[in-house]
Amino acid sequence: MARYTGAVCKLCRRERTKLFLKGARCESSKCAVDRKPYPPGEHGRGRIRETQYLIQLREKQRARRIYGVLERQFRNYYKEAARQRGITGENLLRILESRLDNVVYRASFAESRAQARQLVSHAHFRVNGKRVDVPSYRVRKGDEITLRDRSKELIVIQHALDISSERANPEWLDVNRGEKKITVVDLPNRAQIDTQVQEQLIVELYSK
Ligand code: SF4
Repeated sequence: MARYTGAVCKLCRRERTKLFLKGARCESSKCAVDRKPYPPGEHGRGRIRETQYLIQLREKQRARRIYGVLERQFRNYYKEAARQRGITGENLLRILESRLDNVVYRASFAESRAQARQLVSHAHFRVNGKRVDVPSYRVRKGDEITLRDRSKELIVIQHALDISSERANPEWLDVNRGEKKITVVDLPNRAQIDTQVQEQLIVELYSK
């Protein structure tokens, strides 16, 4: 299972925006985007010619990094989205949102998608009663995600729930914090996805 293992704050600086990859630190004054608001590297502060291609590329990279997906898998998601009915960009975001690691994060059971990914791969969750340890597992409407009995008291999950009490869970998920259970009410439409990306630019990039 491949994943990016480098410094994640550099990814935010490269995209010149907060991608919220580190949980509570992202809201603090330690955030690298606030402290060094320019891309990393020797030429980070140099002038860059903004071509249309570069704008599209950066948008794609931003989306990929927000969801923690590598290039090949992201392109496969795009191909699948293009085959589906409806608007390709919206389909793509819906596919990304339906990943199990994203659902765990959205339901506030983890502080970041990276943490959610680790919790899923350590087999703490069950989907409809079955053990699932694949972060890219795609949930469907009506699925019930629960914690293994011995994982219900995990401090890391309780802490994530405690600090996120103010964060509203998305309408498409029904989150029972007491029972630590998530129900997928429906898959989201574009208006219910708050990810700050212009998906049309990604479609333009890949359809060249
Ligand atoms: Fe990005 Fe969070 Fe690091 Fe800030 S603290 S640069 S938002 S990962």
